Amino acid sequence: MTDVIQHDWSLAELKAIYDLPLMELVFRAASVHRKFHDPCEMQVSKLISIKTGACPEDCAYCAQSSRYSTGIESERLMEKSKVLEIAQRAQEAGVSRVCLGAAWRSVKDNDQFDRVLEMVRGVTDMGMEVCCTLGMLTENQAQKLEDAGLYAYNHNVDSSEEFYETIITTRTYADRLRTLETVRRTNITLCSGGIIGLGESVEDRLGMLQTLSSIRPHPESVPINILSKVPGTPMESNADVPVWDVVRMIATTRIAMPTSDVRLTAGRVTLDPTAQALCFLAGANSIFSSETEFMLTKAVPSPSYSEDRQLLEALGMTMRGAFKKVRPSSVAMTIGSSAVDGVNAMNV
Ligand code: SAM
Ligand code: SF4
Repeated sequence: MTDVIQHDWSLAELKAIYDLPLMELVFRAASVHRKFHDPCEMQVSKLISIKTGACPEDCAYCAQSSRYSTGIESERLMEKSKVLEIAQRAQEAGVSRVCLGAAWRSVKDNDQFDRVLEMVRGVTDMGMEVCCTLGMLTENQAQKLEDAGLYAYNHNVDSSEEFYETIITTRTYADRLRTLETVRRTNITLCSGGIIGLGESVEDRLGMLQTLSSIRPHPESVPINILSKVPGTPMESNADVPVWDVVRMIATTRIAMPTSDVRLTAGRVTLDPTAQALCFLAGANSIFSSETEFMLTKAVPSPSYSEDRQLLEALGMTMRGAFKKVRPSSVAMTIGSSAVDGVNAMNV
């Protein structure tokens, strides 16, 4: 049987995987994980909010939207020197990737973008992978980011196309996909994932995986966020996501996109170490960590460098070095006509 990675998962195939008995699902995901990744290695990233708050978009979960009163103070674009200081401390803590987040709808061709390009050059010169998440991009802007040495661009699809319009009205799913296509036409790696706990159905979660896995090649990083409920946003009182749903989502993401880094992202702080370890077993091989107790803004908490170092040590895991590309093992994997059969056929 030749092996190819699948780009045409059906919802039924993904549902059959997602609904497997949990222990079986974790075992199969862990088996896929080992085919393509070192199961004792964790990619660790650090998010830096380089421009905070006052965002014109209305993403119903976001602390930085100007539509909601969340108590987040808006801050102007950070100085490059401060970004490099934070990156330096992150590198000393073992972090291999720095993610520069700006609360913008889209990038503008102005001196602020030029300053971001300087930050990209500076972090790259430190020997770290640098990611940007700046909103929508044009071809020309993507090319400038590539020329500056950008390693990854994050642009999350967040959920299924059907559910998307219920959480964001100031842009469309198609807008999102256009930026993903723009980035895919460069050598910048793609980081795209989404959020669970928005009120979506399981079908919406799987619809998101269907969208992401249809991208060729699969996004190199797939962040799975658990909604961090921000007071003042429309999502502030959403129901908690059961931990078993988190494990199922991580495991199904792993099977759907075997060579991608699956990042257990926002909301990880709500999982106890044992639950986190189960997610790592199920294929989550990337996390955000922080020198402060928050991820991007004070509204979204994060585990600290020291907590994560203790956790990884306890689990016998090491932090992956920068620029250690994830390459499929000798053979990628086929999942035949029926994905579940394919998963079965992996002798797992
Ligand atoms: N403004 C950029 C954009 O919208 O693409 C960057 C936004 S933020 C840094 C990156 C991602 O974090 C968002 O796309 C969303 O998926 C996730 N996120 C933001 N707020 C969140 C929350 N309260 N809970 C969980 N995930 C969240
Ligand atoms: Fe703005 Fe991004 Fe927050 Fe949406 S997720 S409100 S685009 S900062």
